[in-house]
Amino acid sequence: MLKVEFSHFLSNPLFFIESSRILANISKIVSVRPFPERSPEFKFCKAHGLKLFELETKVSRILSDLKFVESKNFLLAKDGRFIRKLRSIESKILDGKMDFEKGRRRLIKLEGKLFGYPECCTRTYAKSKGSFPLETSLIVDAFEKGFFEQLMNKLRKSEIFFLPQFFTLNFYPCKADCRRAEKIGLKIEKSLGDFSLAFRIRTMLNALYLLCVAYKSINYGGLLGRTAKKFFSKLEGEELEMIEAVSKVDYENFSNNFIRNLMIRYHDRDYQ
Ligand SMILES: [Zn+2]
Repeated sequence: MLKVEFSHFLSNPLFFIESSRILANISKIVSVRPFPERSPEFKFCKAHGLKLFELETKVSRILSDLKFVESKNFLLAKDGRFIRKLRSIESKILDGKMDFEKGRRRLIKLEGKLFGYPECCTRTYAKSKGSFPLETSLIVDAFEKGFFEQLMNKLRKSEIFFLPQFFTLNFYPCKADCRRAEKIGLKIEKSLGDFSLAFRIRTMLNALYLLCVAYKSINYGGLLGRTAKKFFSKLEGEELEMIEAVSKVDYENFSNNFIRNLMIRYHDRDYQ
């Protein structure tokens, strides 16, 4: 069970939610933003034997048509074993010792395993990189299964909508109701103990993020664009403004602030 001071947790909820996945043995690595020395995050890592690694990558894991994109990632892990393995695969691809598509699939599969994603989702994600990207088909599936409609209803009523399958950002379940992804989310919720409310809010925000991606696609046509256009045409002006505003923010900061504000409100209510 996650043990951390309430005020420390509130200073960076996403960090503690992510790192708890390693402590609960769900993931070997998680992606976080760098933090300064002597910060609550730093002390937490020291106390739990977690280390921060910088991983620069060139092989794009995301885009089907663009092979190389430079990116800098910060990963938390108990040791450097897995980071070294990822670096070695990447350099084989860059040196031409490994076929690009084969190597990329290997990277996606290994990362999926290390991040603790279900095999069905990682497999579908890797396969989709040659055709219709999973990011897109997942959002269409979420529209069709009514998840976004329910999300908007919950937001209208200021209620929390727990979607365990969307347990972290940049993870794409093979379908909007993947049972294996849900199970992992429920495991994370349990491992967070007193902080599970923060996680439930976070999964809702992750779904809202996907809805913002859909919002940005309305002018691009295609299946996603058409599905999204139909959905957004039924929303009120104020709701559209909210979605538009949220699609412009730094999502990590936005999520942290949102969770912090709600946690304080719940906390105050419980202790009055
Ligand atoms: Zn799945």
